[in-house]
Amino acid sequence: MKHFFHLSAALSNRQLSVFSGLKHYVLWQIFAIIVLMSLSFAAKADQAGDQAIMQELDTIQTLSDRNNEEGLRQLLAFKNKLPADTSPAIRLEILSVLSNLYFDAGNTKLGKQTIKELEDLAKQVKLKDALLILEIYEAYDIFEKSGFATAVAHLEKLADVVANSNNVNAQFRYRATLAGFYSSNFRFDQALKQYLDMLKLSDQLPRRQVQAKMATWGLISGLYLQMKDPEKALTATTEALSVSSASLAPKAFVEISISRGVALSSLKRNDEALKEYENALRVAQEEKLPYFVALALFNIADQYLIKKDFKRAESYARDAMTKSEAMEDNWGIAGAKVNLGLALGYQGKTKPGGDLVKESIAFFDKNHAKSDVEMIIGELSQMYEAAGLYKEALEQVRQQQKLSDEIFQSDRAKAVAALQEEFDSEQRKRQIEILAKDNALKDADIKNHRLQHMVALLASLVGILAGCFIYMLYRRSKKLNEQLQEVNSQLEFHAVRDALTGLHNRRSFINLMVNRTGRVENERREGSYRNPDCMVLMDIDHFKNINDTWGHAVGDVVLKEVAARLKAVVRDEDMVMRWGGEEFLIYSPKSNPEQITSLVERVLRTIGEKPFTHEALVIPVTVTAGFISVPFSDVPEEFCDWERALQIADMALYLGKTHGRNRAYGLARLLVSHEDALPTLTHDLAAAIKDNMVEIIEVLGPLQDLAPITVSGYQAATQ
Ligand code: GH3
Ligand code: MG
Ligand code: MG
Repeated sequence: MKHFFHLSAALSNRQLSVFSGLKHYVLWQIFAIIVLMSLSFAAKADQAGDQAIMQELDTIQTLSDRNNEEGLRQLLAFKNKLPADTSPAIRLEILSVLSNLYFDAGNTKLGKQTIKELEDLAKQVKLKDALLILEIYEAYDIFEKSGFATAVAHLEKLADVVANSNNVNAQFRYRATLAGFYSSNFRFDQALKQYLDMLKLSDQLPRRQVQAKMATWGLISGLYLQMKDPEKALTATTEALSVSSASLAPKAFVEISISRGVALSSLKRNDEALKEYENALRVAQEEKLPYFVALALFNIADQYLIKKDFKRAESYARDAMTKSEAMEDNWGIAGAKVNLGLALGYQGKTKPGGDLVKESIAFFDKNHAKSDVEMIIGELSQMYEAAGLYKEALEQVRQQQKLSDEIFQSDRAKAVAALQEEFDSEQRKRQIEILAKDNALKDADIKNHRLQHMVALLASLVGILAGCFIYMLYRRSKKLNEQLQEVNSQLEFHAVRDALTGLHNRRSFINLMVNRTGRVENERREGSYRNPDCMVLMDIDHFKNINDTWGHAVGDVVLKEVAARLKAVVRDEDMVMRWGGEEFLIYSPKSNPEQITSLVERVLRTIGEKPFTHEALVIPVTVTAGFISVPFSDVPEEFCDWERALQIADMALYLGKTHGRNRAYGLARLLVSHEDALPTLTHDLAAAIKDNMVEIIEVLGPLQDLAPITVSGYQAATQ
């Protein structure tokens, strides 16, 4: 069965459990991003106690991005031991994060219960921001009960309040909700406009900007899939992936990998699609995200059906089914059943296979998923045909034809009705004009030519009307095209420079890396291969403190100065990039190990040795770094490509943070075979070091002068 539906199938359960019966998967996606964002009511916690709690909550949420189960466990423990005087804003925030973690753990019942608890608390304490967001949520209920127009009207009534609320979070959710309605109603250009605004807003969100931006790109790619434009959908996923790496936002990463697979599969790039799904499966398993495990398995089964490897397809479909059953996800079960039935059918078990598929057809039919039913019937008939059962095949084809007519009729009826309405009003206007002319002619009393005039008049009437009609059709499609073109161009798919620092951005690096495939292998064959390329990933230490102490504008100045200092210490052929907010990356091609260590030393020194100065301010800045080469330790890149290597460097950086910052850890080489090392290394560097799987290099930054700095708090944090 085809892919687009796949998304809806596995997502529907969560969606249904929250909104008892919403049919549009797009809306579910939007709701997911809304929950994902957490509420951030308490972003500007006033009391010192609240601030400490927020910090701990942040830590737990970051942990949950890497390990959902552990995050959930810690959050529950945390919630149970909250001090009695914790503010309602903080309590709401915790409930919001908690519901999200429940949904991700596949526990929809507790997720739903937690949302209810949140709602009750918000109403009880009458927190303005929370109530506003609940009002936005209400649009979903309205949409379900009364449809698109009423829901949009509800949101439009809120427009001014949201705009004046000074609450970026509410603005972001507002647009996300509106976009969901638009896209479920096929108003793609309007949906895209909202997404664009969300991209802009995401930088100003009080928390989790990276996750928000990544999720928005994910939504844009979903929109393009809906518009049957897989090329653009693919580009949008590349944008999403360029926002952050898998280890920082695995949930979003998995979702995006699946969209990418769907897009690639639509472009018939099946091997690449399979790779994406497998990636998604791996990360979803590691991060314990059961919905996405089922969804990935489901799509892998589908790819094997396409490849005609029916044994594998069967096995993956069974796996997907077991997973969906464990979550009582009826949509997931029905979807998996289709793939299982087809896989069995193609292996000669036509009768039981066909029956399974028919069971699912009945389910989708009952749930009004007409176009899914049509698609599945088509695949069933192909299966019968392959088995030589022409009578059964024909019967299915007839049914499909009937359904397809129905769908076409109802779609067309809608389109025609809209046009007709415009046409009718135009026609009335013309008739009035023509009648007026007609009267004038009568007045002129040209009796002799009356007949001729009538004919001419009728002819011109027909001409005008036909002209109007065609012109209107033309105008309409032209306007739509223009609108689409405008928003598309605003997406700026091709910008390669970072606006603040003038450095290359993530996108340009990814473009560079896309052309990398096979280069090293070629060089090895030709004997021209010398040294691997090296990547140094850096993150400014306690950058939040710089923003909090001296303001965002000074933060920006620091970012620019870091960029300038980095540029000054690299070789001409090295590339310095702004990797994300306050993360930088140096790509140093063909470097030997001594060169790298000395580069890393220079980096730590150039940043940490002399404090930054800006006007009268003296700002000490340090960075922590992780570095690695690619190919790493001579491992072929099919096992450890640049993305994986960078993921490992990211973990090395993280290790540097936990060991006191202002230092770098680099991976020198593997001490065991890559088959043994990589599984541990790619998700638990500390364990790999402990088990003597890798050799690590430590580079320390310059000693910091800890003379008192006037602004309290900052000094303690930098120690
Ligand atoms: P750590 O040492 O653990 O890295 O601490 P940190 O404070 O640097 O923590 P984190 O990496 O989470 O903080 C990054 C902050 O950078 C959060 C975000 O508000 C800020 N930031 C991201 N992009 C920009 C930007 O373009 N300008 C400014 N001024 N701040 C930014
Ligand atoms: Mg950071
Ligand atoms: Mg930082």
